[in-house]
Amino acid sequence: VEIEVEGPETSRHAFLTALRKPPPLARIDRQTVRDASPRNGESRDFSILPSNDDIADQVTPVTPDAAICADCLRELFDPNDRRYRYPFITCTHCGPRFSIVTGVPYDRPQTTMASFPLCSECRAEYEDPTDRRFHAQPIACPVCGPHVSLFNSEGVSLQGADPIEAVVDTLEAGGIVAIKGIGGYHLACDAFNVDSCTELRKRKIREEKPFAVMARNLSVAGRIGNLSAEANRLLQSPQSPIVIVPRRCDSSALSVIAPNNRTIGLLLPYSPIHHLLFHGARYDALVMTSGNCSDEPICFEDDDALVRLRGIADCFLVHNRPIHVRVDDSVSRMTKCGPVPVRRSRGYAPAPICLKTSLNYPVLAVGAMLKHTFALGSGSRAYVSQHIGDLENAATWKSFVDGVERYKKLTGIDPELVAHDLHPDYLSTQYAERLGLPMIPVQHHHAHIASCLADNGCDGPAIGIAFDGTGYGDDGTLWGGEWLVVDGPRYTRAASLRHIALPGGESGIRQPWRIGAGMLDTIYANDWRGRGLPIERFMENDEWEQLRRYFGDMTYTPTTSAVGRLFDGVAAIAGVRGSITYEGQAAIEFEQAHDRTVDGAHPFDTTRNGDRYELDWSSTVRAVIDDLCRNRNIGAVSMRFHRGLAVAVADVTEQIARDVRIRVCALSGGVFQNALLLELLVPLLRDRGLRVLIHREVPPNDGGISLGQLVIAGGKAI
Ligand SMILES: [Zn+2]
Ligand SMILES: [Zn+2]
Repeated sequence: VEIEVEGPETSRHAFLTALRKPPPLARIDRQTVRDASPRNGESRDFSILPSNDDIADQVTPVTPDAAICADCLRELFDPNDRRYRYPFITCTHCGPRFSIVTGVPYDRPQTTMASFPLCSECRAEYEDPTDRRFHAQPIACPVCGPHVSLFNSEGVSLQGADPIEAVVDTLEAGGIVAIKGIGGYHLACDAFNVDSCTELRKRKIREEKPFAVMARNLSVAGRIGNLSAEANRLLQSPQSPIVIVPRRCDSSALSVIAPNNRTIGLLLPYSPIHHLLFHGARYDALVMTSGNCSDEPICFEDDDALVRLRGIADCFLVHNRPIHVRVDDSVSRMTKCGPVPVRRSRGYAPAPICLKTSLNYPVLAVGAMLKHTFALGSGSRAYVSQHIGDLENAATWKSFVDGVERYKKLTGIDPELVAHDLHPDYLSTQYAERLGLPMIPVQHHHAHIASCLADNGCDGPAIGIAFDGTGYGDDGTLWGGEWLVVDGPRYTRAASLRHIALPGGESGIRQPWRIGAGMLDTIYANDWRGRGLPIERFMENDEWEQLRRYFGDMTYTPTTSAVGRLFDGVAAIAGVRGSITYEGQAAIEFEQAHDRTVDGAHPFDTTRNGDRYELDWSSTVRAVIDDLCRNRNIGAVSMRFHRGLAVAVADVTEQIARDVRIRVCALSGGVFQNALLLELLVPLLRDRGLRVLIHREVPPNDGGISLGQLVIAGGKAI
């Protein structure tokens, strides 16, 4: 943005001071001030000149979607306002942006509002520099703007009834409604109605994965969850993410919403439609889960929603302002170490992340495979895409491929390099191969650590602790419990977890009992069977006999150093569960089960394996078995395991820190969404005099990989 101001010294000074407190959605990354020759009052008015294409090519200020602001909310319920109860009320400070932009420069004709010409009253506001709606591209009113409409469960349009009132009635009566929001469809029902929640699970074929709950307001949210000041701030922020907090009340509906979980994902109403749905309604909280079936991407196009959500929704609340791209709700998890991003999407993308060191080239980083994001970067700006999802799905794949082209247009960045994961089978890697650009392969965990460093504005060197489910190592084996000493584009593997067998291969990950049984076999051979251990309840004995035959055969029984698998195996041994219905379920429930009142810690051994340390879990598993034989419950085993792991990780890290004389460590990988591990480990590392970096803007899971790839590739020497 280029601003030209003219006037006496004091006024110019006052202008610069005012600029330090920009309006809610403005973000000033950097500013330069220079003198220009006065035009001596040639133009006395304040005017915004049309976007100049050349300038738009350099930077495009497409901002993220923002929650409704306080002023618009007041007008929404003011009977004297001309936008009273108008579901598309918005202004310069709020409303949809990224989700409705179709091209650049960001002007109304380049949004999905293009087909709604402004009426004279809206135009007057749009052109008045003193108005809150001055140059707000998506503004509209009941006269000139979009409208909501109602469809029945068969997708037939229902005329006559007020759609909002009809939906409130349906929800109050325990029905399930598909609601078109900012970045896609939600499926909603009364969160305190057990039958509705149970029915929603059944229809959605979502067995146990937690639902998010939208509370009427902060005070209702505070009755459901334990809200810290930071959680309050996040819930009320313009980004309005889902915030995962400790659960407070224990209603039977909540155990359907988040089974075997002590936390709950909460969010507040963020669009005018949400506020209208709560206004005067008898329910206080709504399940607001993604509008999809099972693991598909959420619906955002009306025709698609009416087909795919048929049989799930009792009715559809639709509107005629098209969503141009799917943007999922963002998710943050509260921990004692601050909020940890779990999914960075609506409200955050496409705001750039400022890099401490400029990239040497414009780069496209294609990310990993699951929880996929990609990133485009040039200079000191990194644009990490919204959450794309799991690339195996055809619709997700399309949003990835289309998304790359869209980001190129929006940012004006034309990549000269493409960074990709080492894994040859990742679809993102195969996409990168087709681009015809020089390719920079980046090891998965190296990318995790680089991502965490970039997230903290740190160049390194640092000791990276990368714990996750699985990633392709540079030796062709599966990694995931790694200490990497990272220095820009270089890293050395300083330590790792002792390998764990994956009987039946990676497809067996949905059956953690296999991993647990494999660990027990490694330690006790076959001597652990028939002793009444909890894991035996989960086992398919015939299947196990089959799988055992292939031990030592890397084709059928690959091994991995992944800490995520250690959690799976120990959770199964401890009796948490034998199979899972969503990713990470065994580990999540194992964490949730912990009992803080129990003391003690399981031992880990550190050995030397060639040029690196190895964290050995065999004593740990023996200690778990010992706990079980003493009838210690899962809560005790969980606490002692987490504490033991934290101490061992801190010890190994301290040893490496002494060896390489580096005092900074960075924690990344999906395992660090485990709040208990984080809360135990971070103080231990700090006690040892280390500076600890954890993720703040991008997730520690694979959603953060693209940023790390980008920084590593862009840092290669010219
Ligand atoms: Zn507003
Ligand atoms: Zn209007």
